[in-house]
Amino acid sequence: MPDDCIFCAIVAGDIPATKIDEDDRVVAFMDINPATRGHTLVIPRQHADNVLEIDEEDLAAAVKMGQRIAKRAVRGLGADGVNLLNSCGEHAWQTVFHFHLHVIPRYQGDPLQLPWIPHPGDQEDIAAAAAVLRSTS
Ligand code: AMP
Ligand code: ZN
Repeated sequence: MPDDCIFCAIVAGDIPATKIDEDDRVVAFMDINPATRGHTLVIPRQHADNVLEIDEEDLAAAVKMGQRIAKRAVRGLGADGVNLLNSCGEHAWQTVFHFHLHVIPRYQGDPLQLPWIPHPGDQEDIAAAAAVLRSTS
């Protein structure tokens, strides 16, 4: 684990966080820069840089915790929907390099926007990418 990992420091209790739930594998706490009301992060206790590195059981625990928090956001906060988001790597918007799952409650009319403009792709390239993904171990 890196000495300067801010999320490891939260797990250790060395810096404060507004925790909402935890179990033996993961901790859930409020994001300090919430995209919407109720924006929560779920992290493994054991440091892993990203989704490529995280232990599979920790990942499963994080997703299950994310689902529980999503349900609470709908029931408790009146969210109209939820985004579960993970960024892996600086070119994919990751800024804190300890795996985290964002749970972002969504509300009708909130200002968040889809970060890409959907348009039909090149069919040959879609098929070529699919072939690579199918055959790569
Ligand atoms: P990402 O950009 O996907 O790596 O997300 C990192 C998230 O961590 C951002 O949404 C930050 O607002 C959040 N964050 C950074 N430091 C803290 C902290 N000390 N407590 C809570 N959330 C934090
Ligand atoms: Zn860490």
